[in-house]
Parts: sequence; structure tokens; C-alpha cells
Amino acid sequence: MIAFAAAAAQAAPAPSLPFVLRQVGPGTYAAIDGPDHKSGSNAGFVIGDDGVLVIDAFFNPDAARALVAEIRRLTPKPIRYVVNTHYHADHTGGDRVLRDEGATIIAHKNVRGWVRTNNINLFGDRITPELKARIEALPLPDVTTDKDLAVWLGSRKVVVRTVLGHTGGDLTVGVPDARVLFTGDMLWRRIPPNLIDGSVREWLASDAQFAAMPDAARMTYVPGHGDVGDVKDVADFRAYLIDLRRLVADGRKAGLKDEALAKAVAPKMRSLHPDWTISDRAIAFEVKYMNQELAGTKKRPVPVDD
Ligand SMILES: [Zn+2]
Repeated sequence: MIAFAAAAAQAAPAPSLPFVLRQVGPGTYAAIDGPDHKSGSNAGFVIGDDGVLVIDAFFNPDAARALVAEIRRLTPKPIRYVVNTHYHADHTGGDRVLRDEGATIIAHKNVRGWVRTNNINLFGDRITPELKARIEALPLPDVTTDKDLAVWLGSRKVVVRTVLGHTGGDLTVGVPDARVLFTGDMLWRRIPPNLIDGSVREWLASDAQFAAMPDAARMTYVPGHGDVGDVKDVADFRAYLIDLRRLVADGRKAGLKDEALAKAVAPKMRSLHPDWTISDRAIAFEVKYMNQELAGTKKRPVPVDD
């Protein structure tokens, strides 16, 4: 009876996680934010010979704790690194959980100057005193770079690359032996990207490089938001940005501004990209930031001296 009960308990579904864990290669996992957005973004991890490298830490520290528990279910190896793909709090919010596990935080050089300050601007009128205090207490990265890096987990190579377009301080994480690229927010799958700090011009150039990688047709791309994708999703994302830029430029030529411009662009974007979920709020912000970029008035984060 006891054995039967134990077997039944084992067959029961795992307590619900704030993300869906997908194996995308040998010892390589994507943690995809669930439909309720309890994690705030995607993350992932790579298990090497002598340790684990985590990609991003979610917004929610509880989700980061759940990620650590999932890693612990799969391997007893130490969590040696977390790579922050950029400074935004939806990717750095759980850093302290990973730091407390012993991880060294690796980030782009600019993240140290931005993570405790620019994240407050990022939330705009949605900032609360609690969130402000949390952001001001985020750990600073331990290792920063403005160059590409190889991180070795024993004999397993992880390639960290600097990329332009989304914030001015973004990294991608490649696992060549698994043909996986964790893109951070350089790729969004069927969800409008956050352009607040972006340059669409630079972004399109970087994503063209992702699609032109030698193994592109056989690669898995793990976006910052949305489900795991392939090279067709990279092309689809580029097409989305190109359409947005063209439609905003057309609206500007027709003299449309602000709300009228967003109202003109939104239905066209929805009909061109019917499998995307495009909220009114998201498209309004995208049109605003695209318009600023085309007008030459876009403000982007400025690197801070160390
Ligand atoms: Zn994000």
C-alpha cells in the first residue's frame, strides 16, 4: 500500500512552476515564462563538466528560486555563472538568488552603471516604493565586458557575444555543441518587443547576423520573451520590425502624430502578423519609440564611467 502510494505520488504532476522547462540540447535548457507571466521573462541554463551557467535571472526572485530547484533536480554540479543578457529588471530581478548560490554575475560593461538607476526609468509611472527599493538593491555584476568571451565549463564551451540594438549593453549566449543561441531580448517570438532603449536600425543588423550563422537552419533560438524558436522566427521578428518602421514612416509622411499615428499603425501590424499577440498598450509604445528614432529624438541609455 505504501509502495503504491509512493508510485502514485511520483506520477502526480510537479507543483506548478512559474515557467515551462524545455530541453533544447544536451544539458541545455530553456525556461519559458508561462502565460501568467509569473517569471517576467525567459531564462535558461547550460550544464557543463564541472558546473552550470545560467542565462538571466527572471524578474521574480521566487521564479529564480524555482529555477535553482529545477537545476538541483537535474544535477548536483555548482551554479558557477549567471550571464545577464542586459540590465532590464525582468532579466536581472532574481540575480541575488543566483549570487547566493555561488554564481558569478557576468554582464555587459554598461550594465553596472544602469541596473540600479535606469531600471527605475524603465517602469515609468508603474514604479512603486517597494519596486524602487528592490531595484536599488540589485547586485552589481562581478565580471563585465565589452568584448566577446568564451566561458568554459570544463571542456564545454559557451560563447558570450556583445550585440547592438536593444539597450546598448546586450549579450547573447551561444552553446555551439548544442546549436543553441540564447538571444535575450534581441529576439521576441510573436510578442511586440520593448523598444524603449532600442535602435531598430542596429537591432535589424544584429538579428540579420543571427539568421546568417553557419548552422542557422539547424539552430534553436531561445528568445527573451515568447516560446523557443528557429531561424524562421528570427526572420519573422525582423519582418515585424521592418513593417513597423515602414508603417510609422508612412504615417509620419501623412502628418499623423501620437495617438492618431498609433491608431493608423496598429490594425495594419495586426493584419500583417496575425499570429502575434499585439496589445494596444504595446503597439502604442512601439509606435512612439519608432517615431522618435525616425525623428532623431530617441533617447538611449548613456554609458556611465566605472
Ligand atoms: Zn525582457
